Amino acid sequence: MTSKILFGTAGIPLSTSKPSTITGIERVKELELHAMELEFVRGVNMKKETAKQVKKTAEKNEISLSVHGPYYINLNSKETTKQEASIKRIFDSAEAGEWCGAKAITFHPGFFQGMLKEKVTQTIQKNLEIVLEQLKQHKIVAKIKPETTGKPTQYGSLTELLELYSAVPAIKPYVDFAHVHARDNGRFKTKENVRNALEEIEKNDAHLLKDLNMHFSGIAFSEKGEKNHLVLQDSTNTFPYKWVLECLKEFDVHGTVICESPNIEKDALLLQKYYEKL
Ligand SMILES: [Zn+2]
Repeated sequence: MTSKILFGTAGIPLSTSKPSTITGIERVKELELHAMELEFVRGVNMKKETAKQVKKTAEKNEISLSVHGPYYINLNSKETTKQEASIKRIFDSAEAGEWCGAKAITFHPGFFQGMLKEKVTQTIQKNLEIVLEQLKQHKIVAKIKPETTGKPTQYGSLTELLELYSAVPAIKPYVDFAHVHARDNGRFKTKENVRNALEEIEKNDAHLLKDLNMHFSGIAFSEKGEKNHLVLQDSTNTFPYKWVLECLKEFDVHGTVICESPNIEKDALLLQKYYEKL
């Protein structure tokens, strides 16, 4: 494997027979992909015994694992109990991810709820620092990486996550390029727009580009941001995956691209093939 970017699926490939996390990893290998994201999006139900098998299978097949935490996370909830539950969901995702050998744990950090950006940033940062402290206490080395989110009502623009990273260097951004595109009602209108996004990351810390976790997918959106994911070659998709891949090559980005299109493995292979020909 010579590629500097590992491509893979958001979850168990659809073509997996008798789908489970373990058979999913084996299927990823058969497809000649190199990564899989474990989707804990509806809750963390991974048992330690299963996780050990998952880790073994991933190591044997040389598949890089990451985790997507539950959707039901809001570190800026108006209710303290919900903030606490969100902290726990991120911790549980990281703990189970660690058992599985996953290196990156992503999640959508929270909503603005009409509050001032400074206040929201403070609350989210404070809560993530609590998670970091818990991870340290439990000697968990998997990294929590909040994702760039698809709606302006959600905390998580690229700039916000880079600011968070500057304040807390243990928290690197997980870049969902389709979200970055959708959140600004179609940000990537030219290839230069894509370059600008990568330059923004590079300017903050060029090292980020040497271990970058990324999501790709086609996407439908409005002025309110993300509506739903699409396959890359959907006639209505404007997310310019080719430009983004070309820029990743241009900036010599290393890392992982997880495909979140509805046809996860088909588009992951499309991306991998396009990238390898560059
Ligand atoms: Zn996500």
